[in-house]
Formats: sequence, C-alpha cells, structure tokens
Amino acid sequence: MPSRFSTGRFTSTGPRHNAYEAVNALFDNAADRLNMDPQLRSILKTPFREVTVAVPVRMDSGKIHVYAGYRVQHNGARGPWKGGIRYHPEVDLDEVRALASLMTWKTALLDVPFGGAKGGVSCDPMNMSQIELERLTRKFTARISIVLGPQRDVPAPDMGTDGKVMSWMMDEYSSRRGYAPAVVTGKPLSLGGSKGRLAATGRGVVTIADSYYSAIGESIKGKTCAVQGYGNVGSFTAKFWSERGGKVVAITDVKGGVYNKAGLDIAALEKFFAEKRTVAGFPGAEPMNNQDLFGLEVDCLIPAALGDVITSSNANNIKAKLVVEGANHPTQPDADEDLHERGIVVIPDILANAGGVTVSYFEWTQNLTSFYWDEDKVNKELEIKMRRAFLDVHELARKEKCSYRTAAFMLAIRRVAEAEEQRGN
Ligand code: GLU
Repeated sequence: MPSRFSTGRFTSTGPRHNAYEAVNALFDNAADRLNMDPQLRSILKTPFREVTVAVPVRMDSGKIHVYAGYRVQHNGARGPWKGGIRYHPEVDLDEVRALASLMTWKTALLDVPFGGAKGGVSCDPMNMSQIELERLTRKFTARISIVLGPQRDVPAPDMGTDGKVMSWMMDEYSSRRGYAPAVVTGKPLSLGGSKGRLAATGRGVVTIADSYYSAIGESIKGKTCAVQGYGNVGSFTAKFWSERGGKVVAITDVKGGVYNKAGLDIAALEKFFAEKRTVAGFPGAEPMNNQDLFGLEVDCLIPAALGDVITSSNANNIKAKLVVEGANHPTQPDADEDLHERGIVVIPDILANAGGVTVSYFEWTQNLTSFYWDEDKVNKELEIKMRRAFLDVHELARKEKCSYRTAAFMLAIRRVAEAEEQRGN
C-alpha cells in the first residue's frame, strides 16, 4: 500500500480561508432544527483551547527555518480531545479550527468517547528529508506536549503524516512524561498500534457506501466509482470497492490520473504505484485529469484528498448519483445545496470517513488495557459501529426529510449538547 505521505497533494480549487465559517454554517443549520438555546449554541461553536507554536527546525542545509504549528481542542465534553496532525503547505489556524470542529461531531456521531481536536504544521513534507521531518515533529510535540496526554488529547495521522510521525510523537512525549503509548494513535504495530488501523478509513468509506446501497435495496456489486486521491484513504477505498465486486473506473492523484471504462485492475495498480509513486502512466488505461474525473458518469464519486474540491463551479458537472466524502470537508456549502437540489445523495465526511478515528478508539482502548485484538475483531467492531451510525443517520434523514449531512450534524450535536449540559458550568 502507498505511504500516507502521498495523500492528497492537490491544490484546492475553491476559495480558502473560510473553512471554519462553512463548518459553523452546517452547525447552525442543524442547531436551528434542534431549536438549540443560543447560550448552549455558542458554547458548542467556540473552540475550548487554541495553541499556536513556533517550530524552529535546523534544516539539512544548516539554516534554521521557523514553521507555524497549531493544535485546536474544539470540544471535550464527551472525552479526551482526539484528532489528526496535518503536515501540508495550506495548513492555517482557520482550517485547523474547522477540522477540529468536524472531529467533535465525528466522534459523537460514531459514539466513541472522545472530543474533537486537530493539529497541523504549515510545511511541505514532500520536500523535506526524514531527519528534517523528525526534528520538526519532535520540536512541535515538545511545544504542544503540555496540552497532550492519554486522558487529555490524543493525536493521530492525517494528511502528510503517518505511523512514523506518530512514533516520534510518542517517543518525544514519553521521554518527558513516562511510557505512554495511548498518547497517540495510528502507531506502527511494534509500538502498540492496532491491527486494521492503516486500512480503517478506506474500509469505513466502503462500508458506508455498502450500507447506503443496502438501505435502498442495492449493492456495490457492478457499481462504478471514481476516486480522487490515492493516498491512505483513496488507495484502501479503491481496494475494498473492487473486492466487493464494484468497478473502480478512474483514480487521480497529484501527478495525473487514469481511466478505464471496464474497471481498473486495482491489484496491478497497487504494484505500479509502489514503484512509480503515482497512478499516472498505469498501462491499460487512458489518462484522466481531476476536473474530468468529477464529471464522469459513474454510480459513485469519492473525493479522498484535500478539502474544498467540490465547488459551485464544478458541482453542476457531477453526474454521479452518490458522493461519499472520504476527505474532510471536500464539498463547499453552495455546491452541497446544488447537489442536494439535483437529487444527488451526499454521505458526509463526519460519517463516511469516521473509520479512522473509530479504529483509533480501539487502539487507545488496547493501549490502556494492554490487551491486543486480532484483526478480525477490529474489522467486525468497526463494521458494527459504522453500520449503526449509518442507520441512525438514515432514519433521522427520512424522519426530518433532510440531507444525510443535516441529519448527521443533528445527531452529533444532540449528543455533545447533552454531555455539555450534564457536566454543567
Ligand atoms: N485524521 C483522521 C480524521 O480526520 C483520524 C483522526 C484520529 O484517528 O484521531 O478522522
């Protein structure tokens, strides 16, 4: 499987710097339907704590470069803060806030006992050496370690980070506070990682698509899909889609893309990617660019890279009947409305890509109990949690006659609001 470092190095096409506003608009829409009291509403909307740190790193050239690092803890009413660390040039405080808020709703929706957080460093990991990345990670961890901890805040991989980065974070934290594997998840197996964690997000994406098709009396078998991104999420999504008898007809990554009407040979593509680090040029397929991928006549479109890729300028091109959001906030609000009006079903990020944090919860549990599960158990428990969350959302969407996104936010907000109220002020 490709390394997570290949994940999603697209440049977003939509306007940036308003991701947090967009997530808050989704929150408000659901809170209105819940008739939420304005005071509780402002508590739930406001991040609990935002940490910004300077991260000076001695580069291989001998010069020091100062990076900006962030950790935003959005809401911790239901448990320790939880969420990934993103290394990407477009990371800024606004985006980290938006992603932290999404984690609050994601953990609540899946009913895992965590709050929501996110972190990131504005850097370009593709153009840094391993040792530079290690120095960056250690310095960043040291500077935010005061707000981390197995019962306080538990990071995980996100775009641009992987198990290796988690190992350095765990080591740096443990050397200050004592051995603490549960301080991060997404670790390698040798350091207390969980079986099934690497594939979990992609497995969850396909489980959710399958749950949707079951609910409408259909199945993935014979269904076509197009996947944007071939990092951790996109690669496992393609693998599980084809294993369930579906056809993956197109995949793009940052260097290009491939299309085959009859379906791509995913096992062969995996091998090709392992060598070339891109899907572009895969034999037996036509080249395909990102924008054309969005306009393909497929059953299902799966954005699995950066945020803000489905915008008001390309939404009207989309011909898929189903969009499953493997990435975080891939769809801008206007585009979301457009798709909804055109009867295109969108399964939102906080449901569709929640497999990662769900297995992170299993990893954390295994670390705290020092009792390790076999892969079958991990996959079964993941499936149970994902299908239950889907059915909850599906039922509420039917009852409320609203989109899956609105129903998902309503369910999640209700759970966090209840915990917040019960904890009192
Ligand atoms: N970064 C992943 C996400 O956005 C996983 C977070 C986690 O496992 O804590 O859901």
